Amino acid sequence: MRTFVYTSHPSRVVFGSGAVDRLREEIERLGRQRILLLSGPALEWASARVREAAGDLVVAEFGDAAMHTPVEVTERALAILRETSADCLVAVGGGSTTGLSKALALRTGLPQVILPTTYAGSEVTPVLGETRDGHKTTRSSPEILPGTVLYDVDLTLTLPVPLSVTSGVNALAHAVEALYSADANPVTDGQALQAISLIGRALPRLAADPADREARADLLEAAWLAGTCLATVGMGLHHKLCHTLGGSFGLPHAPTHTVILPHAMAYNAPAAPEVMRRIAEALGVPDAPAGVHDLVTSLGGPVSLRELGMPESGLAHAAEWAAATPYPNPREVTAEGLAGLLSDAWHGRRPA
Ligand code: NAD
Repeated sequence: MRTFVYTSHPSRVVFGSGAVDRLREEIERLGRQRILLLSGPALEWASARVREAAGDLVVAEFGDAAMHTPVEVTERALAILRETSADCLVAVGGGSTTGLSKALALRTGLPQVILPTTYAGSEVTPVLGETRDGHKTTRSSPEILPGTVLYDVDLTLTLPVPLSVTSGVNALAHAVEALYSADANPVTDGQALQAISLIGRALPRLAADPADREARADLLEAAWLAGTCLATVGMGLHHKLCHTLGGSFGLPHAPTHTVILPHAMAYNAPAAPEVMRRIAEALGVPDAPAGVHDLVTSLGGPVSLRELGMPESGLAHAAEWAAATPYPNPREVTAEGLAGLLSDAWHGRRPA
């Protein structure tokens, strides 16, 4: 008999084309009147769209959100927040902008409304990773979890295909690891399989036509489902490796997930054969790890650590560090096993 413990993380989700036009209503619902609008570089058009929807409720803006939430950036935004006495945070952007909003909410207790423009899924998790002097620390608490998420597919139409592919595979990784998590339960199993099925079908449609609204909507829905899995159950070897490679070698977040996922799956396949069978069925392929590799290849995504700039000389260190403090994982994690996995990933070999 299966045993599990399940804790949900409540958030209000408004989903659809034009959802940004519900922003004023959502801010009123929170009883707030003064918005600090957050975004990142290359997102000026998205801020303009949010400003148009929010009108005079926007009292200040900060457009410098950066990857991995550097504390010095948060402190600059905090100074603006205090000068303007904003009473709520609205963030439009990817995981980097959401991270800034979470960091500000943690320090001020202000409510957050997030409008995601990528598939990272951070908007539904109570987790924040911050960097100070190059060191990343991660914490989890209910105050970090955004209360409201407006998923507007129109805000994702401009995400270039290469970023859509890597961000979509980032979401896929949350769903894959949820299925073999030590905390797996019937709710996240269902969410994960639905996310995998949506991502496997939507990515090729989106690559063929980046303006395909239905494909974009399927991916955004999958990002929400997969992000909910990430929030609810612990992640395994794949996430441990990505955190190690991102933290110690500065590799980019979503592309690293894209390269590592098929290899982490191949490593875990002998210990989780039924999970791999269900993933393969959801993707409509004979073999799950090879199927993910083939999907990424067909979409022109990155398949090797070499092309991400990882030095081959760093592989042994990465294997040792990741094996020293592993996350719970279905298959035992050894430095020797990880060295083989990372060598395959560095060369971009197709899982056998
Ligand atoms: P990102 O937010 O850094 O965005 C990547 C790039 O895409 C940026 O240059 C951004 O300006 C651009 N961009 C975003 N949306 C766009 C759009 N619609 N059109 C055109 N350009 C667009 O990347 P990300 O992968 O979304 O997030 C990565 C960060 O989020 C990392 O710091 C990661 O650690 C964090 N993260 C946290 C969690 C969590 O639960 N805490 C989950 C996932 C990711």
